[in-house]
Amino acid sequence: MNGCQEPEKVVMVRYGELFLKSDPVMYHFIGILLRNIRKALETAGHSCRFESPRGRIFVYGEKPEEIAGIIARIFGIVDVSVCMRVEATPEALRDAAVALAISHVFAPCRFAVRAKRQTKTGMNSQQLGEFIGSVIYDAIPGLSVDLTNPEYELFAEVRDCGGFVYDARIPAPGGLPWGSQGRVFCLLSSGIDSPVASWLAMKRGCEVSHLHMDGGRWAGSDVLETAIENHRRLSLWCPGFDLQMIIVDTEPFYDRMQERHIPVRLRCVLCKRFMLRVAASLCGREGAQAILTGENLGQVASQTLANLAVIADATTVPVLRPLITYDKAETITLARKIGTFMEKQGDLACQAVPRMPATAAAGLAVRESEEKLGVDELLAIVLSQVRYVTARNGTIL
Ligand code: ATP
Ligand code: MG
Repeated sequence: MNGCQEPEKVVMVRYGELFLKSDPVMYHFIGILLRNIRKALETAGHSCRFESPRGRIFVYGEKPEEIAGIIARIFGIVDVSVCMRVEATPEALRDAAVALAISHVFAPCRFAVRAKRQTKTGMNSQQLGEFIGSVIYDAIPGLSVDLTNPEYELFAEVRDCGGFVYDARIPAPGGLPWGSQGRVFCLLSSGIDSPVASWLAMKRGCEVSHLHMDGGRWAGSDVLETAIENHRRLSLWCPGFDLQMIIVDTEPFYDRMQERHIPVRLRCVLCKRFMLRVAASLCGREGAQAILTGENLGQVASQTLANLAVIADATTVPVLRPLITYDKAETITLARKIGTFMEKQGDLACQAVPRMPATAAAGLAVRESEEKLGVDELLAIVLSQVRYVTARNGTIL
């Protein structure tokens, strides 16, 4: 590129925690991250070119603002900027920086230039920042420099592959790339908690599949539809990938609890244990290594420490409960932020819930009830009629 050319726009991607790994692990994770970025952009119709020098990924394509918006939903990424790429000289950086500042700053305004140099020759970072800052200061009347609490920040980076200038960082979710930590099955309900649990597992790099138990006439009339809506919304967080949901018809389980006069107060614990059994059977079939739930300590009667232990005892597959220590308000705040919170809730009531559920169900009583129920036979019945719902990029396919 020569100095007379128009600066080229490029999307700069920063990843956080991946950079802390040893080199082979980091390159492995960056490979997965690049695959995920490619997939997200391809399915959105963008054909792009990539560069991945140490510490950054650069994406070149038409409509860089749109590209940056898509990338900002990808796990493993800390933030994204649309940059001007110029020659890696102080003069070229200065010219691009002044042009950017003139178009974005309205005086009076406190501003700061943050410069960073990867190369060791020439000006150091501080000198480069001062050099660019003084020219901006002269070019726009009414500015003041404030390095501690600026209203406008401009970033200039000198790297081996070029010079980069930008003034906005779009926050991305952080975490680890989708698919870098294996597959989990998330028990997804129509509620607020389990979608947040699913999101948190995705954020830590798990490839998530959803599992919903459709209680039929025992579930509120809007439960199934709302659970599918949760599934659809969560698919926006693994752009380009198919998000699978398995729906299992568990009406026979509730019917039988009634027919065989199972103690009503044990229903919630029995129900959750049955869900774990279904999930555990499907884990083997679908290659998942753990089960994930939105359970929380003390939120409802079935979620006492004693009950959680009896519930988890239904399977040897690890059960992950990322929300175990969250306050409801914290979960709701996160649900709003990730877009799974629904203001309008329909009929989501479970018809099987007793007025006084057991808060410390005895393991022995639970196992006796399961024998009476014939859980193994029920498991075979419900697993014989599962259906799949696939979502991609916020659309049910
Ligand atoms: P949530 O906890 O997701 O807000 P909820 O409050 O309706 O939903 P709970 O009774 O708290 O459900 O259930 C605890 C956990 O059990 C849920 O977080 C979810 O992981 C799982 N779960 C509950 N109902 C279902 C269902 N119908 N299908 C699949 N998983 C479910
Ligand atoms: Mg709950």
